[in-house]
Order: sequence, then structure tokens, then C-alpha cells
Amino acid sequence: MARYTDAVCRLCRRENQKLFLKGDRCYTDKCGVERRAYPPGMHGQGRTKVSEYGTQLREKQKAKRYYGILESQFRGYFEIAARRAGKTGENLLSIIETRLDNTIYRLGFAMSRAEARQLVLHGHFTVNGRRVNIPSFLVKPGMLIALADKSRSVSKIKSSIEANASRKAPKWLDYDANKQSATVLAAPARDDIDLPVEEQLIVELYSK
Ligand code: SF4
Repeated sequence: MARYTDAVCRLCRRENQKLFLKGDRCYTDKCGVERRAYPPGMHGQGRTKVSEYGTQLREKQKAKRYYGILESQFRGYFEIAARRAGKTGENLLSIIETRLDNTIYRLGFAMSRAEARQLVLHGHFTVNGRRVNIPSFLVKPGMLIALADKSRSVSKIKSSIEANASRKAPKWLDYDANKQSATVLAAPARDDIDLPVEEQLIVELYSK
């Protein structure tokens, strides 16, 4: 499975926005955006004018990078979103938000989506009682997502749960802290997704 392996802080700097890809470090003054608030590369401090296409492209790249998804998969989500009733841009974000790796991150079991992805791959979570190790698995209303019993003692998961104890789960998930499980109540609405992106620009880009 292809994935991005270069320095992730470059991605935030390219978007000139914190995308919170590194967990704890993102909240410290070591954050790449805080230290060097200009795009990476030798021309990073020289770029100023952005075309309409450039603006649309940046919004799409930002969304992809935020969720850690590569182009072909992102395009696939767009095609599913376009076939659904309603606004394509909102459908797109709603679909991606329900990926299992993102859901695990939202529930506070991991400090970043990349970490959540790895935890899912290692089989630490169940959906409706069965182990699921596919990060792109899409959760649906009524499904029960839980930390596997044997994984309750994994130190990385325990420390994330402690660090995120004060963070509230999004309202489309009903989280039970005692059972370390959550039920999906509904598909996430746009208001439930804090992604700083103008999704309509992504629709315009792919509609060209
Ligand atoms: Fe982005 Fe986090 Fe790196 Fe800051 S520390 S640039 S938010 S990945």
C-alpha cells in the first residue's frame, strides 16, 4: 500500500496551515509552521500570486494531507460522493470522516491519524465485535467500534486515552469511556468536521 514517507511538516508548511500530522509535537513551539511560516523549498519565500486553479489545487491537497490519503483513493471518494444525493463537497468530507483510522483518532485512541492508521493495521480495534485491520474501512450508523480487550494494556493507546481524556468525541459518535467503545449515531455533518478547507473548491477542481 503506497503512502507518503517524506517529512510531514513540509506538508503543513506547503499549505501554510497546521494540519496536526505529528501528534504531541504539533502543540509545541517545535511545530514546523510556527518556526518557518513559509512554504518549503528554495522558492518558498518568493511565491505570492496564486491562480484560480492553484487555489483549488491547494484546497484538495490540504484535505488529502489532513486525512493522509493519496490521490487515487481521494478521487475514488469524490466519485462516490458525486453519486450521492446532496452537496458533493459535504458528502466527500462526510465519507472520508467515517474512515476507521480517522474515527479512532477522533475518539482519542491515537495522537495523530498516522498513529491511528498504524494501530488499526495492527488489529487493535473491533467493529461489531469483529477485528478490523483496514484503515479505510468506512463505519456506518449503528456500528459499534471498540478497543480490543487484549489491546487495553498497550502503552501507546493508554497514554493517548489519558492525554485526550478532556477531548470530547464528535457528536456523531456516542463514546462510552468505561467500555472504551463508541456507537456511530449518524453520518457526520459538515458542522461536525473541523477541517479548515473549502470543499466547494475541490468539487470545482474535479469538475473541470
Ligand atoms: Fe504540522 Fe504538526 Fe509539523 Fe506543526 S508539528 S508543521 S502541525 S505536522
